[in-house]
Amino acid sequence: MKYRQLLLDFGRSVMRRVKTPPEDLARPRRNTRLRQDPLLEDFANQLLKAAGCRRLAARVFWNPALRTTAGLAIWRDRMIILNPKLLEISSAEVQRTLRHELAHLLAKHRSGRRRIDAHGPEWRDACAALGIPDEPRCHDLPFKRRRVARRFFYACPECSSTLARVQPLKKSAACIKCCRKHNGGKYHPRYRFRPIDRPETIAA
Ligand SMILES: [Zn+2]
Ligand SMILES: [Zn+2]
Repeated sequence: MKYRQLLLDFGRSVMRRVKTPPEDLARPRRNTRLRQDPLLEDFANQLLKAAGCRRLAARVFWNPALRTTAGLAIWRDRMIILNPKLLEISSAEVQRTLRHELAHLLAKHRSGRRRIDAHGPEWRDACAALGIPDEPRCHDLPFKRRRVARRFFYACPECSSTLARVQPLKKSAACIKCCRKHNGGKYHPRYRFRPIDRPETIAA
């Protein structure tokens, strides 16, 4: 009987611990400018398959709020975000940027936990496997040289705004714009900045 009570109490305490957060925290109102593109996504995943990679699936989005950034790859969310301005340039430019960003995901997938350079040999190999063997490392023309080089880049997975930093960001740092917009100004882990490689930019 005592043992039974103990089990019951234990069960209750576990239940308390796994209690789901209040509804507003669990599901913040989503008012995102990200637009998912199932066709491009399908194309991206076919490219991955053709490159011999069946275990990685990427999600592809457009974000009209991007200014000079051509594309982003967010490894943690297996996510690629593209700038719709690419469509005004050419469909070839869309394809190339998609493959460039996909190569970042593929290179990270292939290297497991090992840290790799953003545009190092692993990325080069991935580019070749995805059909862009001569992809230049970067075409970041509008970036002016700064006194202190910013080496740490981050993106918000919700609004895709990017951040360049001299020092790395704390793990818990979140996008203030999205916390304000969707969560009453309170911190929510959904809007935590994700590390990205230096974003490619569109020449103005
Ligand atoms: Zn945001
Ligand atoms: Zn890149």
